[in-house]
Amino acid sequence: MTRIAGDSRADANAAAVLRTVLTHGPVARSGIARICGLSPAAVSRQATGLLAGGLLRELPDPPGAGTGTAGRPLVPLDLNTGAVSGPVAAGLHIGVPASTFSLVDLRGAILARRRLPHADLHPDTLLPALASRLGAFLAEFANGRPLLGLGAALGGWVRPHDGVVVRHAALGWHDVPLAAELADRLRLAVRVDNHARAVAHAEMLFGRPEARSSLVHLFIGNVVDAAFGIEGTVHQGPGAAAGDVAHLPVPGSRTPCPCGRTGCLQAAASDTALGAEAVRRGIVPEPSVPLLVDAAATGDPRADRLLRERARAVGRAAALLLDVFNPAVMVVSELSSVLHEGYLEEIRQAAATQEGRIVSPHAGPAVLPVAAAAVLLDPLFRAPTHLN
Ligand SMILES: [Zn+2]
Repeated sequence: MTRIAGDSRADANAAAVLRTVLTHGPVARSGIARICGLSPAAVSRQATGLLAGGLLRELPDPPGAGTGTAGRPLVPLDLNTGAVSGPVAAGLHIGVPASTFSLVDLRGAILARRRLPHADLHPDTLLPALASRLGAFLAEFANGRPLLGLGAALGGWVRPHDGVVVRHAALGWHDVPLAAELADRLRLAVRVDNHARAVAHAEMLFGRPEARSSLVHLFIGNVVDAAFGIEGTVHQGPGAAAGDVAHLPVPGSRTPCPCGRTGCLQAAASDTALGAEAVRRGIVPEPSVPLLVDAAATGDPRADRLLRERARAVGRAAALLLDVFNPAVMVVSELSSVLHEGYLEEIRQAAATQEGRIVSPHAGPAVLPVAAAAVLLDPLFRAPTHLN
């Protein structure tokens, strides 16, 4: 994208106004100026642009505020989440047994979602199928609202700057130009990121306020991944390869890992490992973590015991990451603890950390659909004048 001189100051001011409204809205222009430290004139100028671009909307005047005053300093502004004119972002999470489509508003609220199971994972087959079904989903649910574009999230090594999936072992993908392929088929702006970083973006935008100062996100799924964010930015590292914690040694674990060592986090605690162990112990007929969580919820003590064992392994790994990064918040995406507080408590106890420092994602079971759309929304809140 070409930039002209002087653009960056306006971008930064517009972003400051938009993020202040995200955090504190509805809020009047005078309040925005006080909170973000810009002059009232600068706030007014940026607000005018953001209103014209459809990202903000004016709420009705508060009682007694009067109307027609210059700059209308007391009229509350909010993100435009209006049911007719409010812009929406599409999300695509590409998983191994299934992918999920979502549509979210500027506050990260899910307006629609749909799951698409798939068997053929080859990009030449899967990408056209995803694009076609996603196109139909958007036609059905966007309802004429402005569509900002698509955020796509998936596991593995993903390079956001050119939208390439460098490597995703479970999908069998190498160097797949995901953003370019989807943009070409859907005629939309598309951004792509690793799902652990995507969740970190979603937490910093829509989760607990302290997550914006610093957070670590630990993702436990078929793969395990981590992401580190500070001052609203998620670390990518050289080649965007940061966050691989698959072979982080879990203290006290002796599970053999394909890498030749024992006790690696992925071998000890991934959904794949947990599902296999649940089958081995005769708890569930197939290696499925949702089935195992169901079995525990309906009173099978063996299922509960196995989930608590995993929660403790996750907690011990979390303790290592807490020691290294000392984040304000640690978000753990793990199915049983997202659905049932008792397993989150087990993780906290194993990590031996103070109350409330380890949390589940704010979106709960909708964590991945929201995170995928956040891949698109994060740059919008960073440079709002560049996405319109
Ligand atoms: Zn290993």
